Amino acid sequence: MKYDLVIIGTGFSGTFFLKKYKEKYPDARVLVLERGRKVAHAERLTAAREEKGIDNMPNPWQAAIQKNDDRHQYHFDLAFGGGSNSWWACTPRFLPQDFRLFSLYGQGQDWPISYEDLIPYYTQAEQWMEVSGPAETPFPKIAPYPLPAHKILPFDAILQKKFGSLVHAQATARSPKGGSRTACCANSTCHVCPIQSKFTISEHFSECYEGVELISQAQVVALDLQNGLAQKAIYLQDGKENTVEAELFVLAANPIFNSHIMLNSGDDSLLLGTGVGEQRSLYAELMLGIDNRGGSTTITSNMWMLYDGAFRKEMASCLIESHNPPELIRIEKGKLRHIARFKFIFEDLYKFESAVRLSANRHVPIVSYKGPSDYLKRSVKNLPSRMEKLLRDFPVESISYDRRLSSGESHIIGGHVMGNDPSTSVVDHTQRHHKFRNVYLLGAGSFSSMAAANPSLTLSAMAIRSADLI
Ligand SMILES: Cc1cc2nc3c(=O)[nH]c(=O)nc-3n(C[C@H](O)[C@H](O)[C@H](O)COP(=O)(O)OP(=O)(O)OC[C@H]3O[C@@H](n4cnc5c(N)ncnc54)[C@H](O)[C@@H]3O)c2cc1C
Repeated sequence: MKYDLVIIGTGFSGTFFLKKYKEKYPDARVLVLERGRKVAHAERLTAAREEKGIDNMPNPWQAAIQKNDDRHQYHFDLAFGGGSNSWWACTPRFLPQDFRLFSLYGQGQDWPISYEDLIPYYTQAEQWMEVSGPAETPFPKIAPYPLPAHKILPFDAILQKKFGSLVHAQATARSPKGGSRTACCANSTCHVCPIQSKFTISEHFSECYEGVELISQAQVVALDLQNGLAQKAIYLQDGKENTVEAELFVLAANPIFNSHIMLNSGDDSLLLGTGVGEQRSLYAELMLGIDNRGGSTTITSNMWMLYDGAFRKEMASCLIESHNPPELIRIEKGKLRHIARFKFIFEDLYKFESAVRLSANRHVPIVSYKGPSDYLKRSVKNLPSRMEKLLRDFPVESISYDRRLSSGESHIIGGHVMGNDPSTSVVDHTQRHHKFRNVYLLGAGSFSSMAAANPSLTLSAMAIRSADLI
């Protein structure tokens, strides 16, 4: 049987593409191939209670890749619903300036689409995920968030008075009171939300798969590429390779595996698999002169004071998150609650040498990560002095920064960069492959630059746009 469409992967990209596509073509014959299986929420909870940690959850991810750097951990979820199972549900948009990094600051590459092109799709993705957020944001919006904002921490509120919409309750798919999901309990165990407050595809969006054939535990290995078109997908199931034919193939398997499938298929696009990297992050604790507890979710605010400006000619953008974990206390008499924890997320530039490559085993890629760029490192180096200036007039007694960047931010980006020129990109502005016109590569692999804001809302909006423009 030949399908109209084969989708590979059931994370945000695959599922949101599918939902939009089905609205447009309700009678299409669609097959979805998913490498993992549906892992019940109860099973995840049991694993978490046994303190197995996210690396030992029912879908061990580290066995799926070979790495050149043991310190750098790539986090992804090989199960039905992909990263939506283990994400923390932070859903900021990018700023319009992120799409014009080269024109504005002479760094990286411009996107072939603008923020304005994505606005309707951002709005749609926020509605589907029931995102909670504030009225005022530094990025323009055409509709309010579906759910009201969470309650922010007292110190965030003081900063907001000075910095206005550059400090706001984080846009998040962790529900506040009044949504269709349970209200967030601010427990900081979001990778396996015990009360199903965060949006997941598995628990809140699986109805998209009604009327669609879904084969689980089917790992797509390659596409059969002939005469400029993909003819078949070749997938591994129960140790045997099978094939399936279709008119259209949508790869939504994350930047590493999208790249690997195309490399295995013999796609020789110059930039395929290159640039795969991550935003990177650093934590700091701030000793305060005020009581700072009481927010209604686990990450209460986003702060954009270090996000955009002429400094991006020299150093990377940085998004600040204000964290609110229950265990955060200051071990000092009378000051237990006089503390804040900030996370700083930095954008990075693509490095050609950081790349996904083929290994001797055609089912496992090698991911070679060459570390962050000098652009990112300059931003990290300048962070303490910039923060000191920013916080000069506020009740901050001291700040202690982590000595090292976190070992992985779980925001994997790059590998099949999007652009208008086939010599400097792999996919076009709709994420359609420049050479194989019945193949789409969806997800953060297509981002033309990394930005510093969490990627999943943007890649979800892009997936909806791709389906809409078919
Ligand atoms: C712990 C953690 C916290 C995170 N928190 C946030 C956050 O707060 N905000 C945010 O924006 N992002 C967050 N992320 C990142 C987010 O999860 C990813 O950006 C997002 O999941 C990418 O979506 P995707 O659909 O492109 O890929 P994925 O969600 O990774 O989905 C890919 C799917 O393809 C399947 N697959 C892979 N290879 C194959 C194959 N060969 N054949 C068939 N199927 C295949 C996988 O099993 C999976 O189901 C977090 C990630 C982690 C791990």
